[in-house]
Parts: sequence; C-alpha cells; structure tokens
Amino acid sequence: MDFDRRKEGIFSALTSLVFPKICIYCQVEFAPLCLKCQQFWLAPVQRRYIKGLAVNSILAYNAASSRIVIQAKESRNRVAQFWMARALSTALEKFELDNPALSISHCLLVPIPSTKSAIRKRGGSFLHPILDKLVELQKEKNGMRWRWKELLIHQKSVRDQSELSYTARQSNMASAFRLRSDDLVRERPILLIDDVLTTGATLDSAFRALRERNLTVLGAATVCASAHRLLIR
Ligand SMILES: [Zn+2]
Repeated sequence: MDFDRRKEGIFSALTSLVFPKICIYCQVEFAPLCLKCQQFWLAPVQRRYIKGLAVNSILAYNAASSRIVIQAKESRNRVAQFWMARALSTALEKFELDNPALSISHCLLVPIPSTKSAIRKRGGSFLHPILDKLVELQKEKNGMRWRWKELLIHQKSVRDQSELSYTARQSNMASAFRLRSDDLVRERPILLIDDVLTTGATLDSAFRALRERNLTVLGAATVCASAHRLLIR
C-alpha cells in the first residue's frame, strides 16, 4: 500500500468514528440514522402518570431503542446523543402545547443524576452532553433559552436496577436523592429529565426529594418508556 492510500485509509477510519456510516438503529442503511429509522424517533408524545407526576416520553423502550440509548451512554455516540436530545425536546414541548401559560424557558430542567460509580466509569454523566445539545437545538429552533442544572445527588448507594423487581426497585430508590444544599433555585419550576422510564421508581424518588424542599415539579420527560412497566434491560 502506498503512502497516499494508507493516509486515505486512516482518514476514512477516523471519519467513520466521527460520522458513522451505518445507521446506528437498524445497522443496515448507510446513514447516521436512516430515514426509515428516523420515523420511530418522530413518534407522538406519550403521557404517563407516576403517582401524580406527568411523564412525557417518545419511544417504546425495546431492544431497538435501547441500542441507541446504550450508544449514547457507553460510547458517547454523537448521533445517538442528537436523537435523544431531539426526542426530549419534543417531549418537553408537549408540556407547553398542553398548557399555553407555561414556557419551558422559565423552568429549570433537572437531570436524574448518574450514580457515582457510573460517573467514574464513564467520566461524567451521559445526560450532560444530551442536555447541552437539547439547549442548542432549542436555541437554533426558536431562540428560546432553556436551562438545565444538576440539583440532585445520590445520598445512598443504589443497586443496579436492571435485575430488580418492581417492589425491589421501589425500596432501592426510596430516599435515593437529596438536594445539593446550596443549589436551590426557588423561582423556577422544575422538569425532570431521564433517558428511560421503567417502573418510575427513580423519577418518583427525585420528585419526592424536590417536593420535600418545597420546590415545584411540573413533570418529567424521558426519551423512552417501557410499555407495561416491564423490566427490560
Ligand atoms: Zn436505519
């Protein structure tokens, strides 16, 4: 192999890292996320209630959608981050559509924090780049300035939830969070953000921690929701 061809090979290996050539969802079509697969991500918003907390989600959580969530989590895949930000944006805008008096730019988006071990493993919360992207998308779209802030912190070590039953998840997540003491932002109502809604135990625990401190929580947005509260990995 001559020098130029080798250089070209290295270049294309690099660009395929930055701009994946195969659809990250179906892994068949040649596009970052092919048109066919984009349709799933343009689904209408679904609303569920977890003990009085309204949760808007876009996708059913299944083997296919979890593939994208995992790519955003484990590989910080930019395409996955973009589509998750876009889904969250739609899920949040639905709160405005349902309540014309509400403006998300007057709210505070609060992510469910990653556990300390997940932060150590991944070098930070996987939701942060997604939230940054979400803010950027919204600014480009209509000039609105959305804000997010880490307000919650894990106050006990919680087990990995993927193998736990519904009841075990409730007790695992009970009093899981506390507020970062000096970070109260009382004038802004809160919307919670997470990647996946399964039993709702995590969101409920965060909701309680915020309410206990007299903060207003208007609802939550997640990218995916499991259809029947199933425990899907
Ligand atoms: Zn595809």
